[in-house]
Order: sequence, then structure tokens, then C-alpha cells
Amino acid sequence: MDAVDTIELLKAKIREMELLVRQNEAKQKKFDALERKLIGAGSLGELLSTLAHDYRKDFSIDWVTVALVDPECEVLKLLDLAGEDRHGLENHLVTLDSNAALINSLGNELLPYLGQTKSSSIELFGDYGQTIASIAVLPLLHRGQVLGSINLASVDIERFTAGSATDFLERLSAIAAVCLQSALSGERLKAAGLTDTLTGVKNRRYFEARSKEEVAYALRSKLPLACLFFDIDKFKSMNDTYGHQVGDQVLRYVAKVIQVQLRASEVLARYGGEEFVVLLPGAGEPKAIATAERIRRIVAAQSIPVDATQTIRLTMSCGVSVLDQTAGAPLGIGVNDELLSAMIARADQGVYRAKDAGRNRVVFVE
Ligand code: GH3
Ligand code: MG
Ligand code: MG
Repeated sequence: MDAVDTIELLKAKIREMELLVRQNEAKQKKFDALERKLIGAGSLGELLSTLAHDYRKDFSIDWVTVALVDPECEVLKLLDLAGEDRHGLENHLVTLDSNAALINSLGNELLPYLGQTKSSSIELFGDYGQTIASIAVLPLLHRGQVLGSINLASVDIERFTAGSATDFLERLSAIAAVCLQSALSGERLKAAGLTDTLTGVKNRRYFEARSKEEVAYALRSKLPLACLFFDIDKFKSMNDTYGHQVGDQVLRYVAKVIQVQLRASEVLARYGGEEFVVLLPGAGEPKAIATAERIRRIVAAQSIPVDATQTIRLTMSCGVSVLDQTAGAPLGIGVNDELLSAMIARADQGVYRAKDAGRNRVVFVE
């Protein structure tokens, strides 16, 4: 090989390296932008959606899922409570009962896996219908704890290959893990402020915010909205007879009985001491009365075990009202608030009338 050939060879080598540098720079820029989006995500839902959707689009990956170790279904509850639209995440969010699937996939060391699909990893990809040829499974680790994994899939067998550099991917998953942990903590804190600690149902604060949303929605969509108010009968004497702890147990029991009778879109909150409020979006008078009656009857029919030998019977009085949608006045926040207060006041009125009429009954107030 003469000197000219050597120079040409070197030039070609340099061009090749320059191209590689430029490609890496471009890749770095894309990762930087994605990292910024992750850090800037304002909520758990937004963070998960950035991982599932933006990652897929920005890097032209065929399918991306986020798997989360979530034995108590906490993440789903937090997303619901935050009012996040779960639809956008469906099929991209995979919840795992334990970290077994991740250990099967990544080994005990939980090291990233890049390469051909393997059967132990399939469950991380949810319902993806296409044939997956190659995958990357990137663990989300935070302080030695495995939160889940980001899972990338391609129909191209060459896309993710064993032995390829994983620096970018590892850095991204490290950042994602920190963001995820912090988003979870934030949502947990918010949830704690909206939950009644005794019964585990929503508290009055949550009800106040949610009821405004439901009223606005009912007026916009012209769908009915009903409100039920339950008040336990003679609860004070139950406390006096059996003690406060038994009283607390009864409150938890009643909350559970009401909750299981409701659909996911319906709202139950503890309004005060022994008072529970329910919102039924889409329900008019007949359906609201039927729901209230059903709950009242179930509570009245059951005996609640207090200890090994004693049981308690209890009844509830219930007031029912519906949102007044006839007011043709221009709608606005002030008007909505008035209609909401009036609906609640009518349900409350129903409780008083039910008490007056002898308790253990449902009264609708027009
Ligand atoms: P009525 O049939 O007219 O509704 O009678 P009542 O005794 O249920 O009504 P009242 O409003 O007089 O009493 C409510 C009682 O609820 C008083 C209070 O001691 C009790 N209470 C409120 N919050 C709690 C709680 O968190 N735990 C327990 N154990 N009792 C509570
Ligand atoms: Mg009361
Ligand atoms: Mg009472």
C-alpha cells in the first residue's frame, strides 16, 4: 500500500468517525429532550404518558410499555384519584403483582436486557398484537428497590442486540426511576389529603372539588346528576352503648357497604361524623331513589358482628335530590355553585324529613 492509499484510507476512517460523532450527537440531543420532558412532567399520568408515547414516537420504536410492580393496584387508584385519563395509557401500562416477572426477565442482578424476544419477557409487553423480534428491558431502580421497567419492542430483529452500548438507555431509565418515585410520592401525598383516614373513602375536601366538576359536566352534557345523603340513625346511642371503637367499626362497615353498591364513576365521600354523601352522575330521580333504597335495605337487613358474641343492627335515613337543570339563565361558575349548594341542601332536607317520619327511610326532595 502506498502513501496515497494510506491517506485515502485514513480520510475514509475519519469521515466514518465524524458520521458516528454526528449520529451520537443527534442521539444525545434526542435523549436530552426526552429527559427534560420526564423531569418536567407535572403528574404521574403525564410522566407515564411521556415514557409510553413520546419515547415511542421520538425514537420510532414499534411498542413501548412501562411495567410497574404494583401488588396493591395503588398506581391505578392514584391515577383514578388524580382524575387522569387512563385511556391513553391502556395497553402501555402493565402492572405486576410482584417483581418475579422482572427477575425472570433480567436475572437476580436486574441488568438491562437487549436482544431477541424471550418468553419470560412477553408479559411485560401487555397486549401488543404484532410479532416482537427484539426487545430492550430497562429496569427502573431507585435506592436498591425495583419499581418496574421500561420495555421497548421492535419487529426488527436488529433493532436491539446483545452487546450494543446501553449508556444512553441506562441513563434515561435512571432518570425515569427518580422521576417516577417522586411522582408517586407526590400523588400519595395528594391522595392522603383527599382520603378519610377512618373509613378509607374520599373525604369532604375531595367531595367539594369533585362535586363542582360533576355539576359542570352535567350542565354541559345535559345529563342528570343526583345526590344521596345518608345519616346513620341513633348513632350516638350506639357509641354510648358499645363505645367509640365499635362506633368506628360501624362507620367502616357502612362505608364499605355503600362503596360496593356503586360504580367506578359514582362518588362516595364521608361528609361528616356519621354522614355519607354519594353523587350519581347520569342518574335521574327514579334511579337515584332506587340506589338509595337498595343501600338502605342492605344496611337494615344485616347484622354487624361486634365481637365473638354480639352483633349490631343499624338503620340509615337518606335524603335524595337531583340537580336542577331547568334554570335557563346563562351558566357560569357562580351559577353552578348555587345549583350545587341547592342540590346538597335538598338532599340534607330529605334526611331531616326521613328522621321526622320515623327514620330508616329514603325521602326525595323536589
Ligand atoms: P339521628 O338518628 O337523629 O341521626 O341520631 P344520631 O345519634 O345519629 O345523631 P347525632 O348527630 O346526635 O350524633 C352523631 C354522633 O356521631 C355523635 C358523635 O359522637 C358520633 N360520631 C361522629 N364522628 C364519629 C367518629 O368518627 N367515630 C365515632 N365512633 N363516632 C362518631
Ligand atoms: Mg348526623
Ligand atoms: Mg345520625
